[in-house]
Amino acid sequence: MGATEGAADLRKIRSLELDPERCYRVRDVFLEREDVKLYFTDGHLIFAKPVLGRTVAALFLATSPTDVGEVLVIPPLPSERQSMARFLGETILNEKFRNAMMFFTDDTPEALDAAIKDAAAHSLDATAGTRIASRWSIVLRNLLEGSALRVLTDLYSAQSATEGFFVAAIRGSTLGRFDVVVDHTLPEQVVVGQLVRAQGRAYYDVWSRFEARSVRSGLRQPSPQPASLEDYRITTRLGTDLHMQVKAEATLALKDPAARALSFEISDKLAVSAVRIAGEPVEFLQQGQTVPRHRHSPDNALAVVLLPDSVAAAGSYPIEFEFAGKVVSDAGSGVYYVGDRGSWYPRIGWDYANFELVFRYPANLDLVATGERVQHSTDGGMRMSRFVSGKPIRLAGFNLGNYVSASRVVEGLRVEVRATKSVERRLQPSRTPVILPRPLLPGRRRRPPQPPVIVLPEPLAADPSEDIERIADESADAFRYFLGRFGEPAMPVTVVSPVPGGFGQGFPGLVYASTLSYFERGDRPLRNLSGNAQRFFADLMRPHEIAHQWWGNVVTSELDRDAWIMEGLATYSSLLWLEQRKGLAERNQALAAFRENLLRKVAGKTVESAGPIILGRRLRTSKLPEAYRVIVYEKGAWILHMLRGIIGDESFFAMLRELCEEHKGEPVTTEQFRALAAKFVPAGHVDVHLRDFFDQWVHGTGIPRLAVEWDQTASGGRHRFQMRVTQTGVPEYFPLQVPVEVHTLPGRSLVKTVNVGDGADPSAVSIVLRNPASRVAIDPQAWLLAETH
Ligand SMILES: [Zn+2]
Repeated sequence: MGATEGAADLRKIRSLELDPERCYRVRDVFLEREDVKLYFTDGHLIFAKPVLGRTVAALFLATSPTDVGEVLVIPPLPSERQSMARFLGETILNEKFRNAMMFFTDDTPEALDAAIKDAAAHSLDATAGTRIASRWSIVLRNLLEGSALRVLTDLYSAQSATEGFFVAAIRGSTLGRFDVVVDHTLPEQVVVGQLVRAQGRAYYDVWSRFEARSVRSGLRQPSPQPASLEDYRITTRLGTDLHMQVKAEATLALKDPAARALSFEISDKLAVSAVRIAGEPVEFLQQGQTVPRHRHSPDNALAVVLLPDSVAAAGSYPIEFEFAGKVVSDAGSGVYYVGDRGSWYPRIGWDYANFELVFRYPANLDLVATGERVQHSTDGGMRMSRFVSGKPIRLAGFNLGNYVSASRVVEGLRVEVRATKSVERRLQPSRTPVILPRPLLPGRRRRPPQPPVIVLPEPLAADPSEDIERIADESADAFRYFLGRFGEPAMPVTVVSPVPGGFGQGFPGLVYASTLSYFERGDRPLRNLSGNAQRFFADLMRPHEIAHQWWGNVVTSELDRDAWIMEGLATYSSLLWLEQRKGLAERNQALAAFRENLLRKVAGKTVESAGPIILGRRLRTSKLPEAYRVIVYEKGAWILHMLRGIIGDESFFAMLRELCEEHKGEPVTTEQFRALAAKFVPAGHVDVHLRDFFDQWVHGTGIPRLAVEWDQTASGGRHRFQMRVTQTGVPEYFPLQVPVEVHTLPGRSLVKTVNVGDGADPSAVSIVLRNPASRVAIDPQAWLLAETH
């Protein structure tokens, strides 16, 4: 392979053209790709010219007014049909169209050829072909741009004919442009969705996503990852201008010897200058934003490495990347922001790997990273730190700043805190000068103009490092509490470090927490926020990120649909700590705020109704971007709270510990989590396997509105008390065990559990009381995500 053969081939793919000689006038051509059915009822079907010996694109075009095509996708799962309905108002996709641009590396050319031969009518039409090719080849190239590297990767790899991908970019008659995708490298191979721009941002709205028919029926398996990277050693030099020069060495474990090109995710802010395998330079191609959008990946920039002939067998090969660029930016006042945290080094998937990180950086800065710092030295103006993970981890990260530090030892483990001496520029008080005109003095009309008085407002100090001892105590206390509840953490050392903005992230052994989380409620940077926002930053955010040392780093989730378990657990852990530290009332206020967010109405519908929690990041849609956070984090916490209500405190905490022990270093699925939790449900409970519970709260939507009607009659010194609990706002079958507290004399009450929504006759509950009932309260201890008036 020549040194630039790949680049030349990529150029060929990017300059693809439609082929006038292969343009057909067709009637009733039918193409089926897994669950996707395309009917080219009347129109022209034109193929692209072959590239690298393969046909990778075709266009259907309606050329006369009566021409039309039609697409039909029927999602196999009720939840996916509901998802479709939320976007389209229909449970299936059935849309007429006038053009569909198709790209493929699978056996679509053969299938289309056969379908054309089988069609009611077809004839070559080179005249129309010339006209169409000259107009549509540029559209073809524009649409192909994002998938060009993927096409190259697939064409280079010796695949069986049924592998590869199929994408149709369709211009629907009522839905606008949307995509239908079949990609066997995805965990859910069929994707139907649309790129939407709203409020100046781009969203990929996934209408439906599911396993392809052949996978569901067991005929085939999704394509496994062709390779992984193990045992990283990353050497990074950070200049005073925050520019990075990096050498990343790793072991490439090649699993699929048929793969001749491998894709690595790496930030497009980093330019790769060399790749070597077993010491020999190899060709690579880098392009930002190249993963097809339907992958829904936040770090969708790629480098494709072409494998030399010497790498032709499954096995391990040393690989080395050199790259440079800037992912760290200065947010002002010595607060730095590390961007592209998931792609600052090359990665394939999210496999576990050992990491050794060596950083050289300006001596006025402190640098913290995942793993244990095993070496530290200063030489002239530069510092060197070496970190080792000690065990396989999923993601390595770092943070830096001009820090003040404090540390605590908790049962032999270390909790360190870093703080900056100032907050980022955005949070500082405005220093816009106030200009006061000089007062005119009486009697001196012809006075020469005087310069105005300029007053600069006094900057109010907001120094996160002032409170570092408090932050260290609090962080250590939260850590100690979680350690007692969940067992061994991800790493022996946990470093809490600040980041600008309102977010946080938990790497193994390294916590990012917003600078806002370094303040207490009422402190200046928080003062103007709502009470709930102040509680979030002051009391919940840091514990949430510290809890991720367990949730996401001891136990993980693999697929987007299981990610709620980690975020729900981290959020609920922060509430457990709030409850421990500030009491039940505070915890209940936090839960009530979550419920309020879930019940908030947007365009007449509650945020919670945007979709079930298992949709994960798919909930971040153009219609309601915040639904993702509110549902995955806040409903997630409520689901765990309700689970605790069902199984009781002792069992709940035993379950969390068992989750850490049983799934240590591996992912847990929603189904595994249900089965584990079900082991702790008290015998005799109506939903002993938690199937209803998970169907309602995890796979379904709806927050019930509960009301109680009651009356009583006195006879013979006793009181016959009757009550009926009604549930509205949820499907008819939505079983719920509702505790109702009946108050009698001051300070005296009894709690009765009423089953609703289980299809049983909603007959009234009747009890005999010694004293008359004075007041009745539904769910007095707030165990249910419900509206109770
Ligand atoms: Zn989180």
